[in-house]
Amino acid sequence: MYKVPLSDIDVGKAEIMAVEKVLKSRWLTLGEVTARFEQEFAKYMDVKEAVAVSSGTAALHLANLVLGVGPGDEVILPSMTFVATVNAVLYTGAIPIFADIKGLDDFNVASEEIEKKITPRTKAICIVHYGGYPTDMDRIMAIARQYGLRVIEDAAHAIGAELNSQKVGTIGDIGCFSFFSNKNITTGEGGMLVTQDLDLAQRARRLRSHGMTSLSWDRLKGHASSYDVTDLGFNYRTTEIASAIGRIQLRKLERNNIKRRKITEEYKGNLKDLKGLILPFTHYLGKPSYHLFPIILPNRDQRDRLQMKLRKAGIQTSVHYPPVHLFSYYRKTYGYSKGDLPKTEEVSQRELSLPLYPQLSLKWVQYICDVIKSSITTQRQSKGKRALRIGQIE
Ligand SMILES: *Cc1c(COP(=O)(O)O)cnc(C)c1O
Repeated sequence: MYKVPLSDIDVGKAEIMAVEKVLKSRWLTLGEVTARFEQEFAKYMDVKEAVAVSSGTAALHLANLVLGVGPGDEVILPSMTFVATVNAVLYTGAIPIFADIKGLDDFNVASEEIEKKITPRTKAICIVHYGGYPTDMDRIMAIARQYGLRVIEDAAHAIGAELNSQKVGTIGDIGCFSFFSNKNITTGEGGMLVTQDLDLAQRARRLRSHGMTSLSWDRLKGHASSYDVTDLGFNYRTTEIASAIGRIQLRKLERNNIKRRKITEEYKGNLKDLKGLILPFTHYLGKPSYHLFPIILPNRDQRDRLQMKLRKAGIQTSVHYPPVHLFSYYRKTYGYSKGDLPKTEEVSQRELSLPLYPQLSLKWVQYICDVIKSSITTQRQSKGKRALRIGQIE
């Protein structure tokens, strides 16, 4: 349908063979392959514990639960995110408290805004590394220490990103990753929770499977013959099929993130001097994972028009994100309204995400940039009423 989709998966023979092997093994749910995937993921991240789950949302929910987030507690987080970040807090009965972002150049939540929202009921801060660009975790961890708060990193965009040579997601108390189809690693659906704390990992492992003390895998292997249920848990188990795909995907990650970086640089080189266009994240910390390539237009109208032009040229784009606090459910339930988070709202009106995935050829990037350039009027002498302002989308 689109000549250039917004994102695309990189799966090939290796994944197909790995899935075939699992199917032939006749054991499809949580077992040896998942245990290997967890070990390899933990090793890659240089973190003690990794717990594979059914989605990034499940990882976030478990992260909140095992850190003791519950009814009456408040968790400070961005509204400039996918709704899953917020819903994971709501599932626990706690209240999400939104903090505004830094601005048009950096869509990560601002540490000053976090500090402003701290109350005696604040239990945790949940950070999203927008687009794979690391948030200033030194500052966040200092705030957390000062006020005695826990820190969850929603690293769904940031698989492989680093800060001070440490993998993003391993800096806070718990890091959560997603393997949804458009993420830097995909298993279809899937997620991973990582932590340095063995006790938190054990609790997450138990809650992943109904609070049971042993798995059917253990019982099959004769390691256990019965089980107790010690907590109210969930079915957040992943499958051996997903884990087999994940193991292959993990091996491709570094290479694919380098491809993402090159595509990002190509975009930036092509679009940097265009009037009326802001390329955010000109300054960033550490090593990003280049999950998204966002641009900022002068206003909503021009953003929407550019999106239409690109669509007509066969190019799929998206907006990351419509702010969570302005969706009707959250407005209705929590009384949020327009103007509560001015910077988040401005970015959501003016942002457009361009296609970005490892196999996107530089020729297509050139094509996309050409369409954008031809849509943005550069220099026009102001002759009469029809003249367009510099940088306006025709
Ligand atoms: C994708 C995503 C999630 C949720 O992950 P799922 O695997 O789809 O449940 C959470 N937070 C952010 C920022 C995401 O982009």
